[in-house]
Amino acid sequence: MREVELTRRSLAALASVLTADQWAACAAAVTRARKTLAGRVIWNINATATGGGVAEILQTLLGYFLDAGVDARWLVLDGNADFFAVTKRLHNAIHGFGDPGELGASAHAAYWRTLKGNAADLLFQVRPDDLVMLHDPQTAGLVEPLRRAGVRVAWRSHIGRDTPNEQSVSGWEFLRRYMQDADALVFSRPQHAPEWAPVGRIRVIPPSIDPLDAKNRLMTTSERIRVLGEAGLLTINGGPISPVVQGAPPPTPAARLVVQVSRWDRLKDMPGVMRGFADANLPADVHLMLAGPAVGGVPDDPEGAKVLDECLADWQLLPTAARNRISLVSVPMDDLLKNATIINAVQGYADVVTQKSLAEGFGLTVTEAMWKRRPVIGTAVGGIQDQITDGQDGLLIEDPTDLGAFAKSLRRLFREPDLAHELGHAAHRRVLANYLDDRHLASTVDLLSYLLGAS
Ligand code: UDP
Repeated sequence: MREVELTRRSLAALASVLTADQWAACAAAVTRARKTLAGRVIWNINATATGGGVAEILQTLLGYFLDAGVDARWLVLDGNADFFAVTKRLHNAIHGFGDPGELGASAHAAYWRTLKGNAADLLFQVRPDDLVMLHDPQTAGLVEPLRRAGVRVAWRSHIGRDTPNEQSVSGWEFLRRYMQDADALVFSRPQHAPEWAPVGRIRVIPPSIDPLDAKNRLMTTSERIRVLGEAGLLTINGGPISPVVQGAPPPTPAARLVVQVSRWDRLKDMPGVMRGFADANLPADVHLMLAGPAVGGVPDDPEGAKVLDECLADWQLLPTAARNRISLVSVPMDDLLKNATIINAVQGYADVVTQKSLAEGFGLTVTEAMWKRRPVIGTAVGGIQDQITDGQDGLLIEDPTDLGAFAKSLRRLFREPDLAHELGHAAHRRVLANYLDDRHLASTVDLLSYLLGAS
């Protein structure tokens, strides 16, 4: 296992963006944390230090825990290609996709082989008084070894499906033996818990973003243009096209922009975004940019390169007029601060942000865009429907495969700029009230206190 270095984040600075009531609740949680967690280490374990929502959450939330005086630490497990192939299958199954038959005995063997080695490593470091939070299916096999050693453990799933299907049931069946006895089972929405999960141990905690992080801090338009120009995502004064851009050359600052930021994952339906955009018949100055991490930059996501290739093949099949207005960008992951700054700039610069996922755990990209006062078109899946109230602080597509409805929403936002403006401002207020790290810190302190009370 590898420890990820955490950076302390200032709660006093966070207070500056909160309302007085929010700060009072957060400060009370900090006081509770200092009292109840003194002398213990709070271990967080997941499968990757970079890329994807969980890595985002841990980096920021644990930074605030450090400032609260809590000894929070973050470990990333070691896994090989077989292990990550199984866990990607599990990820897809829990979202309701893939072939459930692939999760048989050999998958269990590959899964457990990796986690057995990690458990030995972990038990070397964790003491019985510590508390452990395990994140996502990759870590579920660590529950039992920890509990046998007398350590209290919460297992948190950042993914789930709103209504079970054959695949999701088999995904949960695979995990059941590993995680069912955790002291707490945490989900982003109540609907995500498998039906056999013991109700008394279920906790619901939606994720959050850090408003002061490089990903979400306020940027001026000129800074956004400068960042995007330097990264090769906007064409300024001609010059060669950056190798990070495929498909159409990047637009000039005169263009209006539709953006989707996602990992290259089939469930994010980047091809559907392209087809819906091509069908929408938008004004000629509107450009679509699909932005994802440079493939290979997210170690626990082995399908990224294949999915990007599939997107490029789909792009080739579009009519020329649409092809000329659609760019696919692989944002470098070698410098995470730079990556976050580019994502911030592209989300904030967009006229419209989409998240046309076929399935979604929570959808932090939606939260990030809403915080930046962008009008977001999301599909009514997973946590996207908790974040967006249709017509109030964004637009929701009921059926995620309905490209006609998606195209219509795009047209609507370009035809009705006042609506787009109002949705964006309401979106910011919604995130301020519900999805910033102050609320997440308080609910995590409650969870840890609950664990301390668990036998
Ligand atoms: N992200 C990023 N760089 C990229 C693409 C995505 O930092 O090139 C981030 C994105 O800003 C968000 C997270 O990855 O914070 C994705 O989280 P989300 O909950 O939307 O989806 P997940 O990837 O966890 O399924």
